[in-house]
Amino acid sequence: MEYVILAVVIAVIVIGAIAGLVVSGRRRQQLPPKSQAPVITAPPTTPREPQVGEEAAPPTEEPRRTIEEVALPEAPEAEVVEAAEAEAAPAIEVPEPTAGRLVRLRSRLSRSQNSLGKGLLSLLSREHLDEDTWEEIEDTLLTADVGVAPTQELVERLRTRVKVLGTRTPDDLRGLLREELVDLIGKDADRTVHSTKHEEGPAVVLVVGVNGVGKTTTTGKLARVLVADGRKVVLGAADTFRAAAADQLQTWGERVGARTVRGPESGDPASVAFDAVKEGIAEGADTVLVDTAGRLHTKTGLMDELGKVKRVVEKHGPVDEVLLVLDATTGQNGLVQARVFAEVVDITGIVLTKLDGTAKGGIVVAVQRELGVPVKLIGLGEGADDLAPFEPGAFVDALIGD
Ligand code: GDP
Repeated sequence: MEYVILAVVIAVIVIGAIAGLVVSGRRRQQLPPKSQAPVITAPPTTPREPQVGEEAAPPTEEPRRTIEEVALPEAPEAEVVEAAEAEAAPAIEVPEPTAGRLVRLRSRLSRSQNSLGKGLLSLLSREHLDEDTWEEIEDTLLTADVGVAPTQELVERLRTRVKVLGTRTPDDLRGLLREELVDLIGKDADRTVHSTKHEEGPAVVLVVGVNGVGKTTTTGKLARVLVADGRKVVLGAADTFRAAAADQLQTWGERVGARTVRGPESGDPASVAFDAVKEGIAEGADTVLVDTAGRLHTKTGLMDELGKVKRVVEKHGPVDEVLLVLDATTGQNGLVQARVFAEVVDITGIVLTKLDGTAKGGIVVAVQRELGVPVKLIGLGEGADDLAPFEPGAFVDALIGD
């Protein structure tokens, strides 16, 4: 009897255990494995870009992080893409030498030439330089965006010198106008792009400006200028907000054999900039060019973003240049942008793009006055080698003909 009871108890336990296993097995089949659990992601939103002059919306991005946190980003390491390693990499091009580029590209200034240089010369050649003519000269300068104060100065000086000159041959007038325009632009400013390597590491150049002015294109063209001058360049694609910007920059880099450091889309621009400089140090580059995001051009947003990029890069060493890219065709709007940027970061040089598409070459004078910073490079077309070191003499010669 005892044996029978024992046998029944064992049978119940075994049946119970088997039933338990079957049920849990079924449950497991119904539940998706942990690793495949669906991730709920918010749909991407594309906020309207703020405009200069608007106050920035309160930051909706990541909470503020300390510099140390930025320097050691949690995000995946920025990728380093080397032209030579990339699949089907295009042949490396040899950029044109930079000396004399402005002279080669002088015809691109034809619109400015006609309205400014040639216009002034023909007015000055009139037999009687009466008040009306001087007013026309003033209008010509203002229309070319030279700016009010520089225009008045120039007209004043021209009036005095024309009086002293007495008789005026076309050559006299050309010489006089050339001298005055070169003086107005300033021949003594340091217009070199500081890109020479230091003992501790590469020179760092930040390229800043609002979207659409030609910032990424200019960074790519500048890489070519530097490579043409024998420098080894690393590019940092820190414009992580514009989807195509990193690809665009990488293509520029590949063409001249420069590495591009890039991060995840919409990632932290400062961490890409940091990694780019780190890469530049590791491979002994002469210059690291960092293309920054121009998305937030309201003062507060900019200050947060550009300030952070600069501070983080400075953990490696000093920033040598902050180049502000401005679209010459935007006239006064460009000057407003320039003012906002200058309040946020110490601009050391200006790049004026699209001078080939405007009659307003006088913006060179106005923007330098506005910022007290020299124009260092000018963009004269969409071609790869259409970025020229700015030389006042050659520029004025192109305007008035020599
Ligand atoms: P970003 O948004 O500031 O980075 O602007 P991009 O570099 O993408 O340039 C915007 C457009 O301006 C592109 O179509 C460029 O080819 C064009 N661009 C840039 N520089 C010049 C220039 O000097 N002359 C002309 N005509 N177009 C330019």
